[in-house]
Amino acid sequence: MRAAVVTQFGSPADIEERPLPQPKAGQVLVRLEACGLCHTDIHAMNGDWPVKPKLPLVPGHEGVGIIEQLGDGVTTRKVGQRVAMAWLGHACGECRYCVDGRENLCEAQYNNGYAVDGGYSEYMIADARYAVPVPDGVTALDAAPLTCAGVTTYAAIKNARVTPGETVAVFGIGGLGHLAIQYARLVGAKVIAVDITEEKLALAAELGADHVVNARATDPVQAIRKLGGADVAVVLAVAPSVFRQSFDALNRGGRLVLVSLPAGGELTVPVFETVLKGISIIGSIVGTRQDLAEVFSLHAAGRTRVITETRNLERVNDSVAEVLAGTVPARLVFTYHTADVVRVGDAPSVAS
Ligand code: NAD
Ligand code: ZN
Ligand code: ZN
Repeated sequence: MRAAVVTQFGSPADIEERPLPQPKAGQVLVRLEACGLCHTDIHAMNGDWPVKPKLPLVPGHEGVGIIEQLGDGVTTRKVGQRVAMAWLGHACGECRYCVDGRENLCEAQYNNGYAVDGGYSEYMIADARYAVPVPDGVTALDAAPLTCAGVTTYAAIKNARVTPGETVAVFGIGGLGHLAIQYARLVGAKVIAVDITEEKLALAAELGADHVVNARATDPVQAIRKLGGADVAVVLAVAPSVFRQSFDALNRGGRLVLVSLPAGGELTVPVFETVLKGISIIGSIVGTRQDLAEVFSLHAAGRTRVITETRNLERVNDSVAEVLAGTVPARLVFTYHTADVVRVGDAPSVAS
């Protein structure tokens, strides 16, 4: 099988031919159809964060594919079933967080495409219990971005406890942002989309943003304040400046939801203003398997649109460069065995 492998932080990934792995007890072998390129994969490839991924590494935590083989003892998944392998590759299942429905906070978790090999590969091994079933009616191509970008922004909007009529400012309309707009609207919020390129803002407007702000052309804090301020600001841009801008754009009672993870990112806020304005600062990390099931179910019900362009895995390094240049409409998705990717009747997405 072909896989994209990172052997050194900051160096290009190589395409390698590897032997097909065998599922152990409790695992499944999945023949991948699609895997999205999340900006987290770029952080992993660069070793950007305090906790480093393993090396050599096969990145990818938006993998979607068909189960081809079951390891011993697997009874809850079937050969031929479509499943998604998200960031949460495995958690302990026993700690207080796993037991009380916050498995995304488990301290003993293994992350796909970080601590274990992920979806930049034609096949991957997954823990059967954490391979989330993809319902009929959701294509592999749509399921891939939903598996991280979708679940993460769905959980971020839930964590912010947005109520109808509130204003949500979304900073960064990339893979995550284009879905954040839609979840904010689904809970009845008005949405202000902030980005630095006109193409992304045009997409935001098409996806239902009420207002768009180009942070390169205008001061986003002033622009948002002029629109009445934000009750919730969701930070999805990989730029240190946006954290403080998001904070400054908040109304009294506002919630700042931190999601993006720029290398060395830090946020300094004035205590007086935070207290007097009753502001909450929330860190939001992916979502649970149940959140992902809800994301898929909403998509199957026609409530969300996923914007993708497909790429061959051979173009992995060019694809990373495209994301960093900001020239990508929402999400790039690597596709394998492409015949299964598009549901009959769907318009094919732009292939490369
Ligand atoms: P992306 O590259 O697709 O999107 C980032 C967007 O931010 C782009 O549209 C870019 O034009 C925009 N941007 C850049 N500078 C800006 C600025 N100054 N103001 C406004 N917008 C600006 O990235 P993505 O895949 O959506 O991921 C975003 C971040 O979220 C990454 O840091 C990633 O690691 C992180 N992430 C966190 C979680 C989590 O659970 N917390 C999950 C997934 C991704
Ligand atoms: Zn646990
Ligand atoms: Zn991700």
